[in-house]
Amino acid sequence: MTVRVRFAPSPTGMFHVGGARSALQNWIYAKQQGGVFVLRIEDTDAARNKPEWTEGILSALDWIGIERGSYEGPYFQSSYAGEHRAAAQRLFDAGRAYYCDCTREDVQARTGSQYQGYDGFCRDRGLEPGPGRALRFRTPDQGETVVVDLIRGEPTFENKLIEDFVIARGDGSPVFLLANVVDDMTMGITHVIRAEEHLPNTPKQQLLWDALGVKPPVWAHVPVVVNEKRQKLSKRRDKVALEAYRDEGYLAGAMRNYLMLLGWAPSGDREIVPWPVIEEEFRLEEVNPSPAFFDEKKLRAFNGEYIRALPVEEFIATCQPWLTGTGTIAPPPWQPEEFDAAAFAAVAPLAQTRIAVLSEIVPNVDFLFLADPLIDEAAWAKAMKEGAADLLDAAIAAFDALESWDAESLKSTLEAVGAERGLKLGKAQAPVRVAVTGRTVGLPLFESLEVLGRERALTRLRAARIRLV
Ligand code: GLU
Repeated sequence: MTVRVRFAPSPTGMFHVGGARSALQNWIYAKQQGGVFVLRIEDTDAARNKPEWTEGILSALDWIGIERGSYEGPYFQSSYAGEHRAAAQRLFDAGRAYYCDCTREDVQARTGSQYQGYDGFCRDRGLEPGPGRALRFRTPDQGETVVVDLIRGEPTFENKLIEDFVIARGDGSPVFLLANVVDDMTMGITHVIRAEEHLPNTPKQQLLWDALGVKPPVWAHVPVVVNEKRQKLSKRRDKVALEAYRDEGYLAGAMRNYLMLLGWAPSGDREIVPWPVIEEEFRLEEVNPSPAFFDEKKLRAFNGEYIRALPVEEFIATCQPWLTGTGTIAPPPWQPEEFDAAAFAAVAPLAQTRIAVLSEIVPNVDFLFLADPLIDEAAWAKAMKEGAADLLDAAIAAFDALESWDAESLKSTLEAVGAERGLKLGKAQAPVRVAVTGRTVGLPLFESLEVLGRERALTRLRAARIRLV
């Protein structure tokens, strides 16, 4: 039997990192089993779906390495409406489902309590289909439903506690529970690997598989992803969109490595592991069922490591979208004609060791490409204390007199200027750095001055000096 797995996102928003994690797990499982990965877009919630969300899912999957053309699909749930309705009809014809015209209020009035599930009132009323009548599945009164779950063992549910749930609404449209099962059947899915949030649906869905006469799939409910407060990651509160991480400058390699560690770890004491090793070592059965903490700080640290591991030419190329502002990435503060690729290449190795996400390249190098540096006023106030004017005067004069404008000469010159004033190099650097780059932190100062060039550096130092008058 060929293993067939599917990833079945609903295109109702940005692509959630938890979804990306499930997609990768499905992807690897299929690969390990010599199976097939199917992508199904569950687009039946017409009010909330948008085509751009579907496009977003496809491109985000591409980005993390699940590339268009390398999987089966995408199929669209909305194209299978006929199959969904036919399955509902079959269940009705076989007596496994019945029509019901009760409202929630009716049930509440009868049971005299909060709505706690349907009371079975219409079970034997023999209602025919009609407007406003929902179709309910007749759950067995006895026995148990045992879910075979590769991660959670065999969660067991007592059938009498499962209410007669709705499978088609009063307007005849099938609900998610049924559509999802019918699609999995139609697509020959053998393993359903999905988020834990769906576990409460699973006994109901397994009953539907049984009632429709098809052997249910093997399930694997992967752990819910939580924030540092142990709350489920939510798109209203947390940064959850894979696209947001991409646009901020996380590398796909770092991201997918990190996502795979949510609930699983490779052998040895390693966390940063080449993708082929993850593909080989990952075991779905080893995934820890407890909630997985999405630790953005750790992801950042991972990303920094991945950035540092790039060959410098690749680092330069990878920074390009942030330097020119392409696609969904915010444009930099300079004009395209101000950008100087050679100057960037000269400082790139210095920047590569200092940034954790690629967007951070912009504030590190903007001083090279802007006519005037963007002055951070707080940094200015901090650096331009008493003595700054005198130090700048001396530095300007000494730099101006330099024969060779190179980092080493600049450094020894400023060292001497500082020493004459009883200042250590660090202190002497601060006013110069703010004058030239606008900031108190950044790339090594003397290399920055060298790349900026004598004329521009001196112009900025003189402008700062005038501001201090
Ligand atoms: N469309 C469902 C969701 O996005 C997926 C359900 C499933 O994987 O079975 O949550």
